[in-house]
Amino acid sequence: MNQPLVEPMRAFGTTIFAEMSALALTTASINLGQGFPDSDGPPEILDAAVEAIRSGFNQYPPGSGQPTLRHAIAGHQNRFYGVQYDADTEVLVTAGATEAIASALLALTGPGDEVVMFEPYYDSYAACVALSGAQRKVVTLRPTEAGWRYDPEQLERAFTGRTRVVLLNTPHNPTGKVFDRSELEQIAQLARRHDAVVVTDEVYEHLVFDGMHVPMSTLPGMRDRTITISSAGKTFSVTGWKIGWVCAAAPYLNAVRTVKQFLTYVNGGPFQPAVAFGLGLPDEVYAEVREGLRAQRDLLCGGLQRLGFDVITPQATYFATVRLDAGGLEFCQKLPRERRVVAIPSSVFYDSHEGDRLVRFAFCKRPDVLVEALGRLEGVGR
Ligand code: PMP
Ligand code: GLN
Repeated sequence: MNQPLVEPMRAFGTTIFAEMSALALTTASINLGQGFPDSDGPPEILDAAVEAIRSGFNQYPPGSGQPTLRHAIAGHQNRFYGVQYDADTEVLVTAGATEAIASALLALTGPGDEVVMFEPYYDSYAACVALSGAQRKVVTLRPTEAGWRYDPEQLERAFTGRTRVVLLNTPHNPTGKVFDRSELEQIAQLARRHDAVVVTDEVYEHLVFDGMHVPMSTLPGMRDRTITISSAGKTFSVTGWKIGWVCAAAPYLNAVRTVKQFLTYVNGGPFQPAVAFGLGLPDEVYAEVREGLRAQRDLLCGGLQRLGFDVITPQATYFATVRLDAGGLEFCQKLPRERRVVAIPSSVFYDSHEGDRLVRFAFCKRPDVLVEALGRLEGVGR
């Protein structure tokens, strides 16, 4: 039989997350691979979903999302960042951030267009750029004494007359980097100069431990050139709910919605009012999730350091990176069988070979699970 898969998708097999989570099950390993918490989010948000199921929110929500949720999202952007969006024309609810990213790239780019993005990158970015027929232009983030940095000249060179979109992710998976204001200003300036749109994935916006999250939309002149994407999964530890959203000026929002409506149309009926409720909860609820994760980060990073690993401590997110002396892929292939721990080889997030010796560990797991994993890793570090 001929190869049934279209040519641009042939480079993409099973995602690393599906592969490594399946391996964790078959080897009875602790899964520090795929980033999902092993405990549920705030109980009042879970109760709100149960309540929604019992009170008739079980049919298709409106195409753009439940009005209560769209208003809650607009309210969230204003409350935390002082950016105003019209809940009816500038906010769209999606099936997780994943669908928002796919819809934005499919809506804005096509053959002949280029997307500037940073490596390492979240795996769906490359696949969605390929689906759209565009090309990616990749700028490398490298670990330095001052944290993960890119070369400003490489960024400048990545922009061409074909650049349509800059795909940004801050706070950043897998590095845990939080882009600072001066970096964002350079990106914004280049986007304006080349008349490109910034698509920014901010799903870890509330999981920052050191530094401050600066949304691209808050930079002068950028609100109307930025498509902001986020989701409830990380903020409230409900990754399986898959409620995401897009905030953008109406012409861009319309473009994204046009594509989105033919992907899932809508999703997550009863989860939408529950997320709306969650977004309106006091700051302490957000802080509790973040502080729990900070403790988990410190536990895992400190433990890995004691085992002799060269750990790059993240400023944010669910993930820590270690630098090995040898290949990360081989290390991650052996670890489940030899130590019953699963991690992700960071090389899968790179076009170049710069990540070949890096490994990503997720710390969004209960402290007792992290302690058990560290025990299993005894003697593996240098
Ligand atoms: N973007 C990044 C950077 C991620 O790490 C993830 C994984 N949670 C997503 C998007 C996907 O988010 P969602 O589960 O809301 O689709
Ligand atoms: N975002 C999570 C991670 O990076 C996993 C999401 C997924 O499984 N697609 O590990």
